[in-house]
Amino acid sequence: MATYLELPTRGRMPILGLGTWQALQGTARDAVKFAIDVGYRHFDCAYMYQNESEIGDALRQKMEEGVVRREELFIVSKLWSTFHERSLVKEVCQKTLAALQLDYLDLYLMHCPMGFKAMEELVDVGMVKAIGVSNFNHKQMGRLLGKPGLRHKPANNQIESHPCLPQEELIKFCQSKGISVTAYCPLGAPNWPGSKPDHISLFDDPQIKEIALKHNKTPAQVLIRLQIQRNVSVIPKSVTPQHIEENFKVFDFELTEEEMETLLGFKKRYRICALSECKNHKDYPFSED
Ligand code: NDP
Repeated sequence: MATYLELPTRGRMPILGLGTWQALQGTARDAVKFAIDVGYRHFDCAYMYQNESEIGDALRQKMEEGVVRREELFIVSKLWSTFHERSLVKEVCQKTLAALQLDYLDLYLMHCPMGFKAMEELVDVGMVKAIGVSNFNHKQMGRLLGKPGLRHKPANNQIESHPCLPQEELIKFCQSKGISVTAYCPLGAPNWPGSKPDHISLFDDPQIKEIALKHNKTPAQVLIRLQIQRNVSVIPKSVTPQHIEENFKVFDFELTEEEMETLLGFKKRYRICALSECKNHKDYPFSED
C-alpha cells in the first residue's frame, strides 16, 4: 500500500498528515514537534487556524536539529475566503510563508469555493509547488476543470469525509481526473464546536468498534485506515501525544472488502462542517445536501 499520493505536479503527498485546526496556541508547537518525531511529514495548516507561527517554530526547530529536511516535509496551507482578490493573494500567501518560516508551500488550497480567482501565479513564482481547492462540490470541480486557459490543474480537493459522509461519487470523480483527495474530519470531529444532537460518536459506534476489535486496533485507527485504503489522504487532528502516535499506526493492517462496505454503507448521513454562515452565497457548495 502506497504511503504517498502522486500529484499531477509530480509532487508526492504523504497519505497521512496531521490536522491542526483547533490546535490552540500553546499546544500546536509541541504537537507538531512530537508528530515529526513519530514520523508524520504532512501537516495541514491554514491562515484561518491562527497557529501557523507556532507550527513554523516547530518546523524550524526540527530542521535545525537535523531531524527532518525541508524536502521531506509536505506543508499545506489555505487561502481564506476574504483574500480572493488578485492583489491580496500573494500578500497573504507571503504572510503564511513568513509565519511558517518557509520559502515555499507544497500545496496551497482555496479554503472555500466562494469566488475563484487564479492562484496560478504563486506556482509561477515558486511560492507554492501545487495549488488545490477545498470544499468544492462535483459541479464546481467540473466548472473549474473546464475553465478556459487553466494553466495549473488543481492538485487536490480537501473535503469532509467519514462513514456518515463517505463522498464516494465526488472522490471517484476527482480521482478519475487525476486530482487527489484529502479527507478532513475523518474521526467525525468529536469535539466540533456546536455539533448537532443527532450526530453520532463514531468511536462508540458498535459496527466500527467490532471491526476495530477484530484487528486489535482502535476505532480511530479504523477510520483513518478507511481513507488510506481508498487512496484518500487523511489528516486527523490531535494535540495529544498518545493520539498522535496511535493515529500513525495504521500501516500494519488491512480492512477487508466487506468491512470497507460496512464503513461506507452507513444509513445515517450528515455533514459536520456545513459552512452555514455562507449559506446565502451564490457559490455555497452544499445546497444539494
Ligand atoms: P477530526 O475528525 O480529525 O477529529 C479531531 C478530534 O479528535 C480532536 O478533538 C482530537 O482530540 C480527537 N482525536 C484525535 N485522535 C484521537 C484518538 N486516537 N482517540 C480519541 N480522540 C482523538 O476533526 P477535525 O475537524 O480536526 O479535522 C481534521 C483536520 O482537517 C483539521 O484539524 C484541519 O486541519 C482540517 N479541516 C479542514 C477543513 C476545511 O474546510 N478544509 C474543515 C475542517 C477541518 P486531541 O487533539 O485531544 O487528540
